[in-house]
Amino acid sequence: MTSELEIGLYIFILAGFLGYHVISRVPPLLHTPLMSATNAMSGISLIGSLVVAGAGHGPLSTAFGFIAVSCSATNVVGGFLITDRMLKMFKKQEDHTAPRRRIRFTQAALVAVAVLVAGYLAHVYWYREVGRGAGGYAGSVLPSTVLSFFYILSAVLFILGLKGLSSPKYARRGMFLAEFGMVMAVVGTLFHQDIVTYTWIAVGLIIGTILGGSMGWWVPMTAVPQRTALSHSLGALAATLIGISEYIRHHGELGRVLMTAIGFEVVIGGLTFTGSLMAAAKLQELLRGAPITYKGQNISNIAILAGTMGLLIYLVFVPSASVLFYVMVGLALLFGFLLVIPIGAADMPVVISLLNSYAGLADAAMGFVLMNKIQIITGSLDGTSGFLLSLLMCRAMNRSAMNVLFGAFGKIETGQTGPAAGAKGTVRTIVPEEMAVLLDGARSVIIVPGYGMAVAHAQHGVGELANLLMKRGIDVKYAIHPVAGRMPGHMNVLLAEANVPYDQLCDMDQINPYFGEADLALVVGANDVTNPAAKYDKSSPLYGMPILEVERAKSIIVLKRSLRPGFAGVDNELYYNPKCMMLFGDAKDSLSKLFAALKS
Ligand code: NAP
Repeated sequence: MTSELEIGLYIFILAGFLGYHVISRVPPLLHTPLMSATNAMSGISLIGSLVVAGAGHGPLSTAFGFIAVSCSATNVVGGFLITDRMLKMFKKQEDHTAPRRRIRFTQAALVAVAVLVAGYLAHVYWYREVGRGAGGYAGSVLPSTVLSFFYILSAVLFILGLKGLSSPKYARRGMFLAEFGMVMAVVGTLFHQDIVTYTWIAVGLIIGTILGGSMGWWVPMTAVPQRTALSHSLGALAATLIGISEYIRHHGELGRVLMTAIGFEVVIGGLTFTGSLMAAAKLQELLRGAPITYKGQNISNIAILAGTMGLLIYLVFVPSASVLFYVMVGLALLFGFLLVIPIGAADMPVVISLLNSYAGLADAAMGFVLMNKIQIITGSLDGTSGFLLSLLMCRAMNRSAMNVLFGAFGKIETGQTGPAAGAKGTVRTIVPEEMAVLLDGARSVIIVPGYGMAVAHAQHGVGELANLLMKRGIDVKYAIHPVAGRMPGHMNVLLAEANVPYDQLCDMDQINPYFGEADLALVVGANDVTNPAAKYDKSSPLYGMPILEVERAKSIIVLKRSLRPGFAGVDNELYYNPKCMMLFGDAKDSLSKLFAALKS
């Protein structure tokens, strides 16, 4: 066991480093697909769940295994489908003419390999069932050896899949490889020697496929953050249930290593389950998005966490204390809930990324419990990806992870006016007809999308306007801030959905030098990411956050409904700049009026 543990730990650490190396090369353009891809891969908990659901260890164990199979299958199917849906949208200008040939080749190659693998598995199965009776192969040895190779190959395919995300050109191909790796791991596991019944496995797989398929096909792109949070909670639930089921199966007689692994699995899984559910509910506006705070909140949270960890340590030495085991699970569930309530809805992306990381750790812990190396690898990759994305987001917002988790950012204080409120002056407004005249005389336009574009579902209107302007010979560029919207890469996905070629999307560093030359900066529902106070006003919560230098353009038009602040809750002095004009109204409505004015 100890040497197995050592190998497991080596694998976990090495996979983490490899994951860091591969994932840090994924461009911001693909950060949203990265989130859903790692989410789909973390559905590898399916293979451990399949064994528990089919091993016949008793009704409770089978029931937990069945629920875990349904949850994990939902993540796998839903995660890969939505990732593919997103990646299909990312096209260069020239890709609009000949987009699919290469992928067809990859698909054909994968189908050929799948047929070979299926044939081989049938062969193995035949020897296991028939050959064993006839004194042929030792059915119990061959499958586990073959399975190990399947898992190794699957792990390689997952890493290649993530590597593909380093460019939109290879991203879909990479994901096909990862999907194929998942199919191999799952199909191979179905032949696992411990599986004695397939009834609940089949039901779980059907339920998971239906749920995941619906989530993958029909969830709108604007609802991707809550879908991601929901699938983290499903993955974490699967890990928690498998941990509890393993604890029950061993009747509390566990070695220290196994008890530690089970303890981590249920604690991290439990807090991730309730934390992610809360995050999904806040993002879906089922719960109030504002932070809920009370006196002594951080201290009571830390006390609960300390109590949970104390119980875990006690259980490592006295694993038979089953009542304390369930108290520990309960405390972990409570902690996840309490951890998320003081965090505002707008900070949820960072929280989701962190929970993504925790879900990966729960998955890895499950790998240690079942001594399943591919789960250790994918758990480590998922953990690294979530952690890295959280750090990138915090850096782009110039905030620390501690401030996000414990700062109750976004809480409206009574009497708060915003540090830049003193910058008030005259606000100029414009109507669509005047704006059409202004656009007629422009030679270069930079479009700056923000969260309001997502709220208004105005991405298609933005894309159509840009096409019309380009047809009139105007140079159009899009300026994408790394944290515009509510998810890393949020604007990229929405604009890709509106068929905007990704080579027209410019990162902040690329576009900032061009603002000085632009005739017009058209801000569509963006606010904080354009606030000049971030550069010099030390009292502003935005101070230090790099911004899009919209104020350098020759003229500026902002599409939003009012002068209300954005996520950071501070006034934007850009709106009082003499070069700036406000077109008030819902961004989608304003764009269609503008479109009509331009056409007439
Ligand atoms: P923002 O500062 O939150 O501003 C969005 C603006 O959109 C609001 O001021 C709102 O003004 C407007 N709006 C809302 N609905 C609209 C509609 N239907 N039509 C037109 N306008 C509408 O957004 P942002 O500039 O994109 O900045 C993102 C903020 O989120 C940053 O502060 C960032 O730090 C934070 N954040 C981002 C991430 C990420 O990963 N992307 C993660 C965490 C936090 P009205 O109400 O007046 O219309």
